Amino acid sequence: MYSTMQDVPLLVSRLLRHGSTVHSDSQVTTWTGGEAHRRSYGETGARAAQLAHALTDELRTEPGDRVATLMWNNAEHLETYFAVPSMGAVLHTLNLRLPPEQLAWVVNHAADRVVLVNGTLLPLLAPLLPKLSSVEHVVVVGEGDTSVLAGCRPAVHDYETLLSGRPTAYPWPDLAETTAAALCYTSGTTGDPKGVVYSHRSIYLHSLHVNTVEAMAVSSADLALPVVPMFHVNAWGLPHAAFLGGVSLLMPDRFLQPGPLADMIEAERPTYAAAVPTIWQGLLGELAARPRDISSLRRVTIGGSTCPPSLMREFQERHGVKVEHAWGMTETSPLGSYAHPPRGLTGEDAWSYRVSQGRFPASVEPRLIGPDGAEQPWDGVSAGELEVRGPWIAGAYYGGPETGPDRPADRFSPDGWLRTGDVGTITADGYLTITDRAKDVIKSGGEWISSVELENHLMAHPRIAEAAVVAVADEVWGERPLAAVVYAPNGDEAGTTSGGAPDGAAADDSGRDAPGHEALRAFLADRVPRWQLPERWTTIDEVPKTSVGKFDKKQLRARHAAGELG
Ligand code: ADP
Repeated sequence: MYSTMQDVPLLVSRLLRHGSTVHSDSQVTTWTGGEAHRRSYGETGARAAQLAHALTDELRTEPGDRVATLMWNNAEHLETYFAVPSMGAVLHTLNLRLPPEQLAWVVNHAADRVVLVNGTLLPLLAPLLPKLSSVEHVVVVGEGDTSVLAGCRPAVHDYETLLSGRPTAYPWPDLAETTAAALCYTSGTTGDPKGVVYSHRSIYLHSLHVNTVEAMAVSSADLALPVVPMFHVNAWGLPHAAFLGGVSLLMPDRFLQPGPLADMIEAERPTYAAAVPTIWQGLLGELAARPRDISSLRRVTIGGSTCPPSLMREFQERHGVKVEHAWGMTETSPLGSYAHPPRGLTGEDAWSYRVSQGRFPASVEPRLIGPDGAEQPWDGVSAGELEVRGPWIAGAYYGGPETGPDRPADRFSPDGWLRTGDVGTITADGYLTITDRAKDVIKSGGEWISSVELENHLMAHPRIAEAAVVAVADEVWGERPLAAVVYAPNGDEAGTTSGGAPDGAAADDSGRDAPGHEALRAFLADRVPRWQLPERWTTIDEVPKTSVGKFDKKQLRARHAAGELG
């Protein structure tokens, strides 16, 4: 028996139409380093229509064509977010922090026909153009030195000239909701970048979730600051959710360093923000050194890698900002779990839930698979690899086999669930704790040591700014932990910024002793079982980071293998 309900496709163009009419007064503000440029959602809708006309009428973009962006978070990037998918093309957001050769690989793999590029990023794009065989048009957005494009093969256009005088309405087509809308490659922390293609339906459903109280719960009363780049999993769905709920947006453009971020927050007074832990770590250090008024900020979402509990507490205790921890991946759109504690809990009881990776929404089904392939119980103790499925979870990679035995078995189970590569536990009431990435867990004498747990304990030490623990080969145990620590600068009790310190005990400017490795080992001995204590230690200036600001353990392992870590 069929239902009697209408079968209306869930399309990005509906989000656009809704946001630019019902919420036409909501605003996108782009920070230009000292001042701000403002545009309403009504104007954004009109300009998205003009862009769609330009792409179809002048650049001859066809449905399904890939239109890439190499852009910061700004109002124009938001226009592409809605124009490109709504007209039936596919928005490919390029990670501007990828090494140039990987960036070229990704553009060629996606066969992008058009690249929209911020003028400030032309020095990055121009040298790559000879290698980008599929690119026919380069559209320059904003100021920049276009002389670097002289003699390049693709046609070069100016964004504002392209839009100028075109109609401010567009007949958005009625697409099938399963049509490809956006393409994003994983940042390659664990191998070659892999393309994830979001559908109109997956984006729409994900946006509905972002705005619920189970997740970010942003509303038209908020000014949201997505520090998370728009090239990193659609800025965690915030631009789409903003149009759905009329949430005004503060776009940081290229001003992502702690100093400019603090200035921006003080001047524009956002109520909510989202970023990976390293950004907040930097901001805390900045505020300790040069205080600013960030009192407008009520909540921030932290995700993308484990958030040290010490960072969450410090944000709340020093600045009154509530930090909410979330887990997700490029393959999960990205919102998977979100750590709101159960209703009614306060104080330390609530903290134990808040530092977990949180609960899954009904649309994302989790299961834990143990080393023997058996599903693990939700008892908060039994660990396994996390697998998920749901309407906004990837079931394949772009260009790879969609189903069947050829689908990469390390990423998808035979029955189609996504293998996340994350190891963890789930409590009876559904709270996930990620103990490690499968590739990072330290397998010592048949037991597993969580690198994340050791790191979190170390980073809670007031004199440690950063700590990364990696597995190194050991003749007796198979693997043992190597702890690489970054000392906080002398006298910085907050432990929020990086800086070097000598091995062994060292007196600092303010007379306190920086703890040596033996002292750190003793500090850990009170917190973890003895057999987990690292015997190998090294002091580094900074933990290497990936293109999206996560600890790059692959690089640390390589440096150890090359004998650089002592
Ligand atoms: P990449 O896989 O290329 O690093 P992603 O942004 O997709 O790019 O990374 C997803 C991974 O990031 C997850 O599989 C997980 O290991 C890690 N991650 C994301 N959020 C969290 C979190 N809150 N806690 C722990 N790990 C996280």
